[in-house]
Amino acid sequence: MKTVRTVAELHEALAELSEAFTDKSGSGRNRVPSVGMIPTMGALHEGHLSLVKTARSENDIVVMSVFVNPTQFNEAVDLVAYPRAEERDAGLAEQAGVDLLFIPSAAEMYPDGYATTVSVNGPLSETLEGARRGRGHFDGVATVVAKLLIMVLPDSAYFGQKDAQQVVVVRRMVRDLGIPTEIVTCPIVRAEDGLALSSRNERLTGEDRLRALSLSRSLFTVAAAVADGETDTGELETVGLRVLTESDVDVEYLAFVNPETLRPAEAVEGPVLCAVAARVGEVRLIDNVMLVSPGHDATGATGVS
Ligand code: AMP
Repeated sequence: MKTVRTVAELHEALAELSEAFTDKSGSGRNRVPSVGMIPTMGALHEGHLSLVKTARSENDIVVMSVFVNPTQFNEAVDLVAYPRAEERDAGLAEQAGVDLLFIPSAAEMYPDGYATTVSVNGPLSETLEGARRGRGHFDGVATVVAKLLIMVLPDSAYFGQKDAQQVVVVRRMVRDLGIPTEIVTCPIVRAEDGLALSSRNERLTGEDRLRALSLSRSLFTVAAAVADGETDTGELETVGLRVLTESDVDVEYLAFVNPETLRPAEAVEGPVLCAVAARVGEVRLIDNVMLVSPGHDATGATGVS
């Protein structure tokens, strides 16, 4: 694995990898290698590594970026406290099969005089995380992801369902800007006790680690109620909030939305994204689950004909 820090080095390394590539399929002819990319903010865990695994299985060359993007942080303390572990990350990335690790500085990503922002307008950026963290959050995300994709021009880029709204925003941005990259969504990786893995979990201590479990527990309780036949999202919200308030976490939202438009869903008829955000002590956590009522398949069609 090679580590690079500038865009010039990145392009050089990509060209070298591409040149060195030989098709081992036995066709006898060479072809242009496929490139898969995983954008991250580092402090890698099994969630990130699951994206690498999928990217590795689908591509000839795998590129990972590690960049704690200042423009998407709405709280200075969160940016300062965000865990950084460059050496450990490089070891894990290499083990997982990353070919090229791109770790740019803030000055490399936003050079002097930088003046361009990519905004995905409307409800996709303004609800849920956008409403809580301010519209600058998804401007920051869309801008940095657009820049990274343009720098690498991967065939596919891999994102986690953990940040469900981020994937919706990125898909819209890629379509709108005509960036020729397929966006692949990978399932949420959880700890054995259900907590969704997150770099921010490192900051949870003792009691807070236990209280944090109420996020996934509330989502699983809601999903169980749906499996039992409840479809009314008002009722489901009551069920989920009960679990959260019992654990004394500071709930920011428990929302039921259409997974594509992110508009509020009144009933679970077809897929509904149930998303939660809460503060546990100093740490802000998010999680989600896709709800499908037993009478409907994942496309929203009824199973009864
Ligand atoms: P981050 O470093 O938090 O920006 O995350 C980088 C990528 O990893 C994003 O696409 C996240 O959605 C994804 N990711 C983070 N945590 C998980 C998880 N527990 N399961 C699956 N993907 C995740």
